[in-house]
Amino acid sequence: MLVELYLCLVSTTLARTANSNITGDAVSLMSISEDLRRQVIEEAGFRCEYCKTSSQLAGMPLIMEHIFPRSFGGTDDRNNLAASCYRCNEFKGVKTHAIDPEAGQFVPLFNPQTQCWKDHMTWVNGGTHIVGITPIGRATVIALRLNNENVVDARSIRQCSMP
Ligand SMILES: [Zn+2]
Repeated sequence: MLVELYLCLVSTTLARTANSNITGDAVSLMSISEDLRRQVIEEAGFRCEYCKTSSQLAGMPLIMEHIFPRSFGGTDDRNNLAASCYRCNEFKGVKTHAIDPEAGQFVPLFNPQTQCWKDHMTWVNGGTHIVGITPIGRATVIALRLNNENVVDARSIRQCSMP
């Protein structure tokens, strides 16, 4: 229990540190070419690779998420980049692992480059909520707050507006 608490505190502290360095992150993003950025977003189908929100629904462009954080030595290579909405990018911060709430184990977060979303998560409640079906999926849903109030509201509106 103490180890889990410590790891959560370390993860939270690191995320705050990373988020406070907005200028540094903005400068570093410039090292990703526009072609590579477009490729990542197109390959993701113009949807966040974590919460699956489309950039059209979010009303904002997707951004580049470093799966292994740059502050830990992660690169700008294609295999370390994921298309992400601002919300998931911010909630992920520099986290690479989180606790599976069911088993209480510290596990890696979902990796969009090496894993299939449907192997770890699924839709419920008519597509308004995401549920993790593996330790990785469950930890990712909690850590990235994939069912936060705002995105659930947006998904509900989308469901209602569908013909
Ligand atoms: Zn997202």
